Amino acid sequence: MRLVLLGPPGAGKGTQAEKLSAYLGVPRISTGDILRRNVTDNTPLGEKAKAYMDSGQLVPDDLVITMTERRLKEPDAKKGFILDGFPRNIAQAEALSKLTKLDAVVSLFLEPEDLIKRNTGRRVCPKDDTVYHILMNPPKKPGICDKCGTPLIIRADDREDVVRMIEEIFLRTIEALKA
Ligand code: ADP
Repeated sequence: MRLVLLGPPGAGKGTQAEKLSAYLGVPRISTGDILRRNVTDNTPLGEKAKAYMDSGQLVPDDLVITMTERRLKEPDAKKGFILDGFPRNIAQAEALSKLTKLDAVVSLFLEPEDLIKRNTGRRVCPKDDTVYHILMNPPKKPGICDKCGTPLIIRADDREDVVRMIEEIFLRTIEALKA
C-alpha cells in the first residue's frame, strides 16, 4: 500500500500515520522526522535545513526531494509506505508522481482555531520523537517522556505566531490548488 497523508500541521497526520503503519505493516516516512534527525546529528543536510525549520518555513525543494527519493529506495519501502509531510507543494507533488505510483491520498481537515489549540499544546520528546499533547494526550508525568524519561520540549515551530503563519500559508496553498 502506497499512501500519502495530507493536512495542515497539527491535523494529526503523524498519529494516524503511525497507526496505519502498524496496521498495514509498511514504514511511515515522515520528512519532518528525517529532517529533525539530520539537524540533531549535525549532518550537512541538517545544517542547511535548520534555519528554515526553526522559522516554520519549508526546506528548499531540491534538498527535500533528493532526501525523500533516497528514503523511498530503501528496501523496507519496496512493499509500500505512508508518506507523512511530503509532498508539501506542487513541485514536490510533481516530483513524487515521477518517482512512484500511489494507491491513495488522504487529506485531513480541521477548523483553523482547533489547529492552533492542537499545535500550541504539543510537546515532543527530543530523543525518540514521541508526540504528546498537554490536554489531549498528556504524558503520565508532566513534561517527561513516558517511553524514555527524557524532558519534553516545545518545538520552535510550535510557537503560536509561527503556527498562525504556517496555517495561513497552508490555507492559501489549498485555495490556490482549488482555483
Ligand atoms: P508538522 O508536524 O508541524 O506538520 P513536520 O514535522 O512535518 O511538521 O515538519 C517540520 C518542518 O520540517 C517543517 O516546518 C519544514 O521546515 C520541514 N519540512 C518537513 N517536510 C517538508 C517538506 N516536504 N518540504 C519542505 N520542508 C519540509
